[in-house]
Amino acid sequence: MSFETLGLAPALLRALAENNYITPTPIQAEAIPLVLAGHDVLGGAQTGTGKTAAFALPVLTRLSKTTPPAGPRKPRALVLVPTRELAVQVAESFKTYGRHLKLNVTTLFGGVGMQPQIDQLRRGVDVLVACPGRLIDHLDRGSVKLDGVEVLILDEADRMLDMGFLPAIKRLLNRLPKQRQTLLFSATFEAQIKQLALEFMNNPQQVQVATQNMIAQTITHTAHPVDGSRKRDLLIKILSDRHTDRVLVFGKTKHGCNRLAEQLEEAGLPAVAIHGNKSQAARQKALRDFKSGKARIMVATDVAARGLDIPDLPLVINHDLPMVAEDYVHRIGRTGRNGVQGEALTLVSPEEGGLLRQIQRLLKVELVMDVVPGFAPSKPIRLDTPIPKNGGGGGQRSPGRPGAAPRPHARPAARPGHAGPKQHRPTGQGAYAGKRGSRA
Ligand code: AMP
Repeated sequence: MSFETLGLAPALLRALAENNYITPTPIQAEAIPLVLAGHDVLGGAQTGTGKTAAFALPVLTRLSKTTPPAGPRKPRALVLVPTRELAVQVAESFKTYGRHLKLNVTTLFGGVGMQPQIDQLRRGVDVLVACPGRLIDHLDRGSVKLDGVEVLILDEADRMLDMGFLPAIKRLLNRLPKQRQTLLFSATFEAQIKQLALEFMNNPQQVQVATQNMIAQTITHTAHPVDGSRKRDLLIKILSDRHTDRVLVFGKTKHGCNRLAEQLEEAGLPAVAIHGNKSQAARQKALRDFKSGKARIMVATDVAARGLDIPDLPLVINHDLPMVAEDYVHRIGRTGRNGVQGEALTLVSPEEGGLLRQIQRLLKVELVMDVVPGFAPSKPIRLDTPIPKNGGGGGQRSPGRPGAAPRPHARPAARPGHAGPKQHRPTGQGAYAGKRGSRA
């Protein structure tokens, strides 16, 4: 299968060739023809599967075929995304693929001034990529009109709901023209997402690549049991012993990430931190330094790391376990992308045994337990350890997260008890080895 057979605009084929995109990924092969045919589409795909191009390419093709009405150009395609980073990335993709089309792509997100965004909106917009909160601010001020929207895309819808954007999304949906095409992409399909689709989509066609929550086979997973109080020392040892070019470290809280980055610096390991309390400029700078190799280590919270596309990321380390098992999938999805080998190390304290069990249940995989000499925990890691409210490692569960409970269909990887040394046996599909989708 090649892009030429999919019916995309010639200007896009040119841009794809310039970017060395030869073969459509499974989600692209499945979704593009459906979107071009005008269907509403529910896409089950995580980042790393090529999902952005799966909606950007057909939407750009559609926009390139129609002349916008005379007068100031109002958004004809609206992409709603959970985070600023994803907004920037999605907009970049639209600009890259659409570089031979004369279409304006604009982003709207919080943490930066309104006025430059208002100025940009005045200059005319074809594709608007926005976080729901800031978009509502603009709507309320009258600086943006959504009555020209022909296509709505909800990207990473599960994460938007996790972040409490459902009321904002519903408000926005009610302000959009009823006559429109709606595309919804999500890594998981919680009941709330299905409800949203039922309410606001018109006979959606479903495409699914890679079984839900499954992980790329190119990633090896190891858990290092260690007391919580010794995690920092173990992290420093791992980072000092290994000479990996780029390492992404996940912490639980914004404060914890800052402190950890400082402690790594003190240990002679230059690190940048990225989390929601930082200004947009500081986040972009940290990301730039990390991507360019200026900073070898980036310490991130889950929300800040969402949607980051970092090429050549060989190693992800979980300093703390995520409160929500699905976040493990998102975290390690930063590595092992596009068929490249990746590694995920997780530091597990005895208090986090229950969280580890959640992850193993979701993945249907047992992580290899590897005690680092000198760092054996004072107690064994027991999978039946109750999950404390703060995750046992000083973190917070974000409020109202629907994905917190293990999925009912996920069988336990092991019965509760001691987590013994086991070989990692992923049962999932690699992102690019996704199975053919089923259509509803
Ligand atoms: P996404 O899942 O949209 O975040 O995309 C993951 C990465 O794959 C991005 O770096 C894209 O530029 C890249 N990508 C997407 N589609 C293709 C393709 N057909 N061929 C090569 N690379 C691709």
